[in-house]
Amino acid sequence: MKKILIITTGGTIAGTNSGFGIAPKLSGDKLIPKLDGIETTILDLYSIDSTDVMPVHWRKLYNAVTENLPLYDGIIILHGTDTMAYTGAVLAFTVETDKPVILTGAMLPADAPDSDAHPNIRFAALVAAGGMYRGVHLAFANRIINGADIVKTRSFDKDAFRSFSGFVPTKKYAFPKRNGKLPAVVRLSPFTYGLDITLMAEDRAGIVIETYGAGGIPDNEITLVISELSKVMPIVVTTSCIGGTDLGKYEVGRRALDAGASDGYKRSTECAAVEMWLKMNQ
Ligand code: ASP
Repeated sequence: MKKILIITTGGTIAGTNSGFGIAPKLSGDKLIPKLDGIETTILDLYSIDSTDVMPVHWRKLYNAVTENLPLYDGIIILHGTDTMAYTGAVLAFTVETDKPVILTGAMLPADAPDSDAHPNIRFAALVAAGGMYRGVHLAFANRIINGADIVKTRSFDKDAFRSFSGFVPTKKYAFPKRNGKLPAVVRLSPFTYGLDITLMAEDRAGIVIETYGAGGIPDNEITLVISELSKVMPIVVTTSCIGGTDLGKYEVGRRALDAGASDGYKRSTECAAVEMWLKMNQ
């Protein structure tokens, strides 16, 4: 019988509604259904809404995963959906394993009518015990997505995630010894000043600029700011659209390359930010 560790971290899947809004309150033994054919152990690691996730939580989770992987056939992590993409990318870039490390969550608390909590846990258990998927993946609403390629596209729909581009990381990073310098994430809009980017860059590891479509930067002082900043820190251009960027496609994209930015290519903004954090803190 396969031995699977289930780590709980909070999120809606562990939530109850006390009348003041949903908050994670349920421990693993209250929320995880009986899973036939596998031997499960539960580790309640922390219990937060994933909006509260910070690098300190990734450190705890990374340690729990890497310390326990030798003892189990696979690990399931129950996690809030809102920052699933960040946590998935952190683990996908840092955990080296042939065993399944499967993230899941839910859009409705386990005790809500018609909740997706138990179906998603059962699906994650099937994937974790099945042995078809190695390494870090999300199993959610019958979709399986690589950990570094997760994007949450729906706030209320149970089928809340998509693959961003099919990106699979080829490079692994050591988990940073300390949080170090953090990347800034800037979303470009027609209202963005160059000065916004300058201010965001202060004391940062680098900047991820989420732009439009295939990617590009406008012909204004933003280009000058990026030309200056790219001399001292990495600037990666991503897009708000599923699919990723190709900075060679348009003049506006080539402008970004000429200014010293690099192409996020198939990386989502979350994936690019996480990789920048890891790379700059090795
Ligand atoms: N706000 C919740 C969280 O990310 C949403 C969810 O889990 O679905 O923790």
